[in-house]
Amino acid sequence: MADDTMNSLSDWFNASQIKRSLFQNEEFRLYQLKKSWEMIVGPVLARESYVASAKGTTLIVRVTNAPFLHALTTMKGDILKRLKETEYGKRFTDVRFYAGSPKKKSDDVPLSLSAIDTQLEKYRRLYTEKLTEEEIDYLSCWTESHIPDDRLRPLIQKLMKISWEYRKSELKAGWHPCEDCGTLVPPEETLCDMCRSRREKKKLAETARLLLDAPHLQYADVKNLTGCDYSVYERAREVLMNRFREDIFRKADVPLNKRRLLSLLIHKPMKEITFRDAADVLTKLPQTKFSQE
Ligand SMILES: [Zn+2]
Repeated sequence: MADDTMNSLSDWFNASQIKRSLFQNEEFRLYQLKKSWEMIVGPVLARESYVASAKGTTLIVRVTNAPFLHALTTMKGDILKRLKETEYGKRFTDVRFYAGSPKKKSDDVPLSLSAIDTQLEKYRRLYTEKLTEEEIDYLSCWTESHIPDDRLRPLIQKLMKISWEYRKSELKAGWHPCEDCGTLVPPEETLCDMCRSRREKKKLAETARLLLDAPHLQYADVKNLTGCDYSVYERAREVLMNRFREDIFRKADVPLNKRRLLSLLIHKPMKEITFRDAADVLTKLPQTKFSQE
């Protein structure tokens, strides 16, 4: 009976989309290439650039600024040669470098200056408030009594004046304190960028921890337990999927990680998946040079 169950699970798995997405997964290979970028360009350039995407036979790389972009462009031949040493990298006949991070949905279009101009114009319109005579007097008295250094005092006074004017402008435009830290944020926001990103990271970690113990959970269950939104759930699954696959490659706890991976993929509780089920279903995972590093 165990064999019957195993066969049907195997058959079903072989016919399913999941198998395709797991074994012929370009995304995973690109992910491994992203992680190996440092081995290709060295630590210094890897800190200033990252593999953004693959468009057919062209690899798209984002670079933090122009000097590094220039350095990478001059190394293009070498980079292609090193890519060709690997199974996945062989397909690339060109590497394109772009400065800055991509705009949504336009991975291969360089950023224009108009976005920066629009932002500057927004600032010019927002920060219009000036300090009153009284406020300037107050600031002078305060710095006189608190900053003994004559050379530093004018500079600090100037910075405080600017920051006070910014604050007045923001309050006038309806800005209010961030829920977590009190920094002023625009009326339509509840959190500042830093606090939002901190909360998102925390939620992602919490969701991933939950899924590590119970990889089979569907979105509705996870939402009830952690209150995460769908994109966080998907990201947590992706993080774990890559982690299990990497552990399997590195031959760490292979039977357990195969069960976890299968449970995550088919939403079946771990206790209903035997080591043999997992071993038989996940017989062959793609191998690349990167994975053996
Ligand atoms: Zn905040």
